Amino acid sequence: MSIKVDIRNQGDTLHLTLTGKLDEHFDVQQITGASKGSRRVHMHMSAVRSISSLGVRAFETLLRALEKSGLAIELEEISAATANQLSMIPTLLGSAKVLSAKLPFVCAACGSEALGVVPYEAGAAALHPPDCAACGEQMELDGLAEEYLPH
Ligand SMILES: [Zn+2]
Repeated sequence: MSIKVDIRNQGDTLHLTLTGKLDEHFDVQQITGASKGSRRVHMHMSAVRSISSLGVRAFETLLRALEKSGLAIELEEISAATANQLSMIPTLLGSAKVLSAKLPFVCAACGSEALGVVPYEAGAAALHPPDCAACGEQMELDGLAEEYLPH
C-alpha cells in the first residue's frame, strides 16, 4: 500500500492529509498542480507510517517546489517516522514550519502505550507529556527525544 493523499482547498489554504507509506509513488505533481492559487499549505502527517529514501527525495522535491511558488508551508502532528527523518536530515524542511509531532509514549507506572501530540521544539516530550489514560501518571517518550525533536 502506497501513500494516500487527500487534497482539500479551503480559502487560500491547501490542506493535505497523507496516510500510509511515503515512497517513490508519492505524486508530487498532483499536489503542486492543486496548489495553484493557494498561498498556504497545511500538511497533516500523523498517519505517515514510514518513509523510504526515495520517499524522502519526493517529499523534498514537493517542499522545494511549493517554496518556489511562494507558499507558506506548515506541517502538523507529524508522525514518529516523519519526525525521525527530519531529525536525521535537518535541511529537508527548508522554510517549512512544523507545528507539532505525534509521538509514541509509554507509562512507566503501568506499561500502557499511547500516542501523544507535543509542540515540535526541544524538550517538548519532557515538558508536555500526556497523562496515562489507564492510571493517570505522566507518560514518558518511548525513545530518545533527539530521534524525534529538534535539539
Ligand atoms: Zn499508566
